[in-house]
Amino acid sequence: MTDFSDRASEREAEFIDDALLEQRLHDPSAGKTVADSATHCAGCAQPISEARRQAVPGVILCFDCQDEAAWLEAAARRNGRPV
Ligand SMILES: [Zn+2]
Repeated sequence: MTDFSDRASEREAEFIDDALLEQRLHDPSAGKTVADSATHCAGCAQPISEARRQAVPGVILCFDCQDEAAWLEAAARRNGRPV
């Protein structure tokens, strides 16, 4: 049985996967500038700090969502799922 929190977690993971894919498609090293950095996280809609926007040109995820996305990617890799 799937409860509400399980479904919410799955949807959040899918959303972060999509955001990570989007970020990969738009490689921050490929000519992105701070002006391309999002002011709010694509995963959780929280503001992205100016320091992070400066440090990661083209960033679209906050630190927490990026960290979670990296964890999910690593978990998927461990499970043999292509990412
Ligand atoms: Zn976030």
